Amino acid sequence: MNRNKKHVQPVREAQDWTPWSWQSRTATQQPTYPDAVALATATRELGELPPLVTSWEIIELKRQLAEAQDGKRFLLQGGDCAENFTECNSNLISNRLKVLLQMSLVLVHGLRMPVVRVGRFAGQYAKPRSSDSEVRDGVELPSYRGDIINSPEFTAESRIPDPQRMITAHARSAMTMNFVRALIDGGFADVHHLEYWNLGWVGHSPLADDYQRMVQAVGDAVQFMETLSGGQVGNLNRVDFYTSHEALLLPYEAAQTRQVPRQWGWFNLATHYPWIGMRTAALDGAHVEYMRGLRNPIALKVGPSVTPDQLLRVVDALNPDDEAGHLTLIHRMGAGKIAQALPPLLDAVRREGRRVLWVCDPMHGNTESTANGYKTRRFENIRQEIEHAFDMHRASGTRLGGIHLELTGEDVTECTGGARELTDVDLQRAYRSTVDPRLNYEQALEAAMCIVRKSTQ
Ligand code: PEP
Ligand code: MN
Repeated sequence: MNRNKKHVQPVREAQDWTPWSWQSRTATQQPTYPDAVALATATRELGELPPLVTSWEIIELKRQLAEAQDGKRFLLQGGDCAENFTECNSNLISNRLKVLLQMSLVLVHGLRMPVVRVGRFAGQYAKPRSSDSEVRDGVELPSYRGDIINSPEFTAESRIPDPQRMITAHARSAMTMNFVRALIDGGFADVHHLEYWNLGWVGHSPLADDYQRMVQAVGDAVQFMETLSGGQVGNLNRVDFYTSHEALLLPYEAAQTRQVPRQWGWFNLATHYPWIGMRTAALDGAHVEYMRGLRNPIALKVGPSVTPDQLLRVVDALNPDDEAGHLTLIHRMGAGKIAQALPPLLDAVRREGRRVLWVCDPMHGNTESTANGYKTRRFENIRQEIEHAFDMHRASGTRLGGIHLELTGEDVTECTGGARELTDVDLQRAYRSTVDPRLNYEQALEAAMCIVRKSTQ
């Protein structure tokens, strides 16, 4: 291990690595495609399609993440648990963007620092599953693994993995990116027009007054600065927005991993910021092998069963030269486990002097099932995990530099609690997720307010 190697510059290309070298390792959570020729055809086609992002955007994001590591920014990463092909439409995309922009405004205003905005979208189509198959009424079929692989209907035909779905996923991701970029470039994110971000259904939210007061304060501040400087200040009419997804389906990721002119190394050009899920984080597994060769900033989900030594070994594999901004660790422990599971990891990483950005995902350790069969999460547990995370980092002398949430701009009832005190009975009103339960708009905004309250305490 390279335990004594700190902040070595310049960083180098990974040794003995290619975008496909992961194929010599065990790749878990992959579909078994019935037709190898069809798979090869699809990956070849993918390899020739235009990229979704550019290397200079990726490098700029890495620079911003390095600032977050240094305590100068806060990361807001959020979106659906999984996107699906039928929900690639303008309302859903713009509503999700509105929530993220409103949350980032709450964070910028409350934390007094810039926010790095990253969506879980434009490629979040593959899902890890706890079982390879699903049984209903005595019938066993392969599990649904996300729209990029198969289809959720419970029929044998729908569940067959189809490599052409990777081409559709690329196209839907490109449409999503195109719309987000057009909105941002067209002034949607302009701080002079905060009313653009309002969502119709929340006029009577219990949080509306707090939010409107903040909007008023931001509006006054912008006007004051502009009066003072006799014109526009800074770059208030646009923001940066980045994309991320779980790099789960390796043929899809590898096919879009490329070299670009005037840059060394390899970039995954399907997203700015891929992450490794908790179930695919084995040190000797294919996902760690694939990710160690990328120049993109990368993230790793860290669950409660990881030991400090295991974590340090993966950190070494993924960021051997301790490059600033390169590696994010997203802990997802659960409100009941974080106090025990997190401090030894924080202490080990700090003791070894490793540079990482620590982020809290308060969603995935808090999933439960209700008596009437819904997969849900209680807002109270999410809030508690966030608050504990701040406390644990403070006690360890490390910094919590971001939040990772599953959320939507729609009026769904998937998580219980929050300002409107949704109960188990409310879940049936508007439960739409085919995978994990998301925070609705109000709950997402409340989570942002809770972060501000806790971190400024
Ligand atoms: C997810 O982010 O949707 C997910 C499956 O998370 P994890 O890998 O942390 O369980
Ligand atoms: Mn999820």
